[in-house]
Amino acid sequence: MNRTLQSQENETCEKADNIKIGLEIHIPIKTKQKLFCDCKTNYHEISEPNVNVCPVCTGMPGIKPYPINSEGLSSAIMLAKLLNCKLNEKIFVKRKHYNYPDLPSGYQRTSEPIGVDGNLNNIGIWEVHIEEDPGKYDLNYKRVDYNRSGTVLAEIVTAPDMHSPEEARNFFKDLVNLAKYTNKIVETGGVMRADVNVSIEGGARVEIKNVNSIKGMVKALKYEILRQKNLKSVGGEAKMETRGYDENQMITVPLRTKETAADYRYIPDPDIPPVYLKEISETITLPETPRSRKERLISRYCIKDDYADILVRNKELADIFEEISSDKDKTTAEISSSWICREVLRQLNYRDIEWTDEKNKLNGKILSDLFVLLANNSITENTGKKILERVIDSGDLPGDIVEKENLMAESNDDVLKNIINDVLAKNQKAVDDYKAGNKSSVNFLVGQIMRSTRGKADNKKVMEILDGKLGN
Ligand SMILES: [Zn+2]
Repeated sequence: MNRTLQSQENETCEKADNIKIGLEIHIPIKTKQKLFCDCKTNYHEISEPNVNVCPVCTGMPGIKPYPINSEGLSSAIMLAKLLNCKLNEKIFVKRKHYNYPDLPSGYQRTSEPIGVDGNLNNIGIWEVHIEEDPGKYDLNYKRVDYNRSGTVLAEIVTAPDMHSPEEARNFFKDLVNLAKYTNKIVETGGVMRADVNVSIEGGARVEIKNVNSIKGMVKALKYEILRQKNLKSVGGEAKMETRGYDENQMITVPLRTKETAADYRYIPDPDIPPVYLKEISETITLPETPRSRKERLISRYCIKDDYADILVRNKELADIFEEISSDKDKTTAEISSSWICREVLRQLNYRDIEWTDEKNKLNGKILSDLFVLLANNSITENTGKKILERVIDSGDLPGDIVEKENLMAESNDDVLKNIINDVLAKNQKAVDDYKAGNKSSVNFLVGQIMRSTRGKADNKKVMEILDGKLGN
């Protein structure tokens, strides 16, 4: 952190009206044991406080910690490699001192940078290091819970290369998505946290602490940028400070003037031997990345480039796609990819939720059921969209709804011809208009046909029959 803080503070802003945003993202790493003791790490699954604790993670005086947890360390090295960082050869663990009830020893153990000078999507990565998570202090009940104390965090510090809340959101999403590809991170319970640094027009850098969702980060940034601009407009200036984000009021509030590295009185931890990274690094096999997965999806399932891109940038969607698609059935793979990327995402966005949100009732079984109905032309696209809109909230099986409500596509030629004859007879004016050259009146006729079939008419067949009857 030392290097990071100093280099950020020394930054000068050349461009006027310039917004600079940097992120410090904490990613919880999945390990069986805590970073410096053998306590369990499933704090996010249990409600009883202080059961996963021992003298090490509750900071008892004189107690000896274990050497650094190798599982957690290799996962952090893997992350650093995926972020194109240069690995350091040897690192020490340092003690970062501050006083808060969630930190019983009075210092947090945090490693020197594992990797430095990386990048992801043109955003610079200053460093990746590993540290122990503090416990949880509940201000309302004045209760402290050390189940989380000593669990493993990777911290990723970016350069202030982002220039808008939207850019920061896209980067955060891509970073979390990439981290998920390692399969080594804790994904339950909204556990990603970030500290956000923002400065405008060369003003002082303000840090917003402990933003705990991507949505929260965007709101906090929007508010903070506006606050700093307003300060400027009345001749004031943002001062260097640490603020907190108040989720309920959607504002940032002052916490304290920003600590400098000196305030933390960093010292090497004499209880932890130095760690040599090269040997561990050589044993790590890198996982498939979004980029390599994209190539694989395209060559294996023959899906469109754009769809493959959307899928791999939302790992859960790519997982679902692969769960329900077979490389031997290209039709269904095509329908699955386009429907997931267009219709499913549209419905999720409309509800302002992610695939992993518990409000989303879709799963592989439901989608596969729907896509088979579409692939077999058993239902029309129209019907499919209406069904999707319902099952995302209800979790019902599309096939059941189709059967119960008789929504099968009408593709019987004789039935369709009768309906179309009927519609044409009743709408002679539109037919005349069409024949007189007003081609758009065909839309009106198709609308009438769909209406009398409750949207179930097979669109292709309708167009074929209409063409034959109207002539061209
Ligand atoms: Zn412990």
